[in-house]
Amino acid sequence: MICAWSRFLPRKTMEDVNRSVRSMLSYAYHHVPFYRELYDRAGVHPDLVRSVDDLPLLPVISRLELMAGGPASYLNRKANPEKLTVKHTTGTTGNPVTVYMNFAEQAFRKITMMDAYSRNTWIKFPLRALDVGTERKDAATTLVSRTGPHKRVRLFRGMPMDEQIDLLFKTRPSLIAGRPSTLWELALALSTRGLTPPRPAILISNVEMLFPHVRRLLEDVFRCKVHDCYNCEEAGNLAWQCPKHPDRMHPNTAVVWIEILDANNRPLPFGREGRVVITNLFNRTMPFIRYSMGDRAVLLDWEKCDCGHHGPVMRLTEGRSENFIVLPDGREVSPRIVFDLVNRAFPYDTPGWNMIDAIRTFQIIQETEKLIVIKVVPGPAYSDSLWPKVERNLSELHPALRLNVELVDDLTPAPGKKFHQVLGKLGSRWTRAMENVNATAGEQK
Ligand SMILES: [Zn+2]
Repeated sequence: MICAWSRFLPRKTMEDVNRSVRSMLSYAYHHVPFYRELYDRAGVHPDLVRSVDDLPLLPVISRLELMAGGPASYLNRKANPEKLTVKHTTGTTGNPVTVYMNFAEQAFRKITMMDAYSRNTWIKFPLRALDVGTERKDAATTLVSRTGPHKRVRLFRGMPMDEQIDLLFKTRPSLIAGRPSTLWELALALSTRGLTPPRPAILISNVEMLFPHVRRLLEDVFRCKVHDCYNCEEAGNLAWQCPKHPDRMHPNTAVVWIEILDANNRPLPFGREGRVVITNLFNRTMPFIRYSMGDRAVLLDWEKCDCGHHGPVMRLTEGRSENFIVLPDGREVSPRIVFDLVNRAFPYDTPGWNMIDAIRTFQIIQETEKLIVIKVVPGPAYSDSLWPKVERNLSELHPALRLNVELVDDLTPAPGKKFHQVLGKLGSRWTRAMENVNATAGEQK
């Protein structure tokens, strides 16, 4: 009984994590055809895994591999798909995923999400939450929904801005959540209209990488703390922002175990950046074991953090692996570094200069080996004088890099797609490694 309940406790020790891993593996092997076939084919029995340190004995799986066999392959044999909650990912990385959960698992997912949010603020009920930029996937996605004392209002993507602002003022949310790019749009609209929105207790940024200029604008406009969360449909909350160090995150060990691996699926030591691979510790209806997220992060050496948390520490390095910039000499540069080089050239220290008056939105794109294009939605105080310094900074990366600036009206991504602050169009090692994984998965089917 204790064992069964421990997976519903939001705070876990390593002993609990190891127990959950063993129990999940054994369950998946005996009840889920996909894992039985996978481990039999690999010639490895999950009983060999006694702790998270043994996980590398098992193969890593991709979205495509898991989805290929359909629900009869990846769902637990006892599950009745008609009685389950279904969530769809929007397929921002090309392969959409359908996630099934039973009622208890969905409730647990919500509890651990709230638990993560409460690490940075006191969540009070009744809770009025405003989701910004939600995709209207089907008729079941309603504008307003209620679960007990939790009211949720959704500002759908594509909803006219005046309507969104109107709903924001009517809802007076205590919690606002959304992707940085959609929160940015809303904050920008409020700021240009000279409106002061109701102040929420907390603003949650999720799905995309939260860049510092976005955090700054959100904090200015909403006058509250911005909390960066690493969430996904496959598991809910994967990590929450450390309350003492905004650039660090604490993996949510009640929900997942996170590994950081190199391109050959070997575990990387602390401090080395690699691919995020997760093992979901609670969803037995549809287990995700050593499942590659397509994100990149660094695990840091962990001792007791000065926020009081004792557990793993990580840093997300950028949203997705594909956005590396490949230099003419073959070196690959993380999008975060490229962003910093551009951002550092902006005259933040000049009195009267204000980012959103000069630039509404911008995106850095590597078009060819030597050409970086920055697309800009200009603000009223826009000036070309910004760019020579940016080009000089970029040439620090490689002297052959050239910069083109294109003024555009809009940078809103297509429906269901993420906004990439930095977009690398050349094939980096990581893109190629992912393509190989997907190709191998395709051949096996
Ligand atoms: Zn901490």
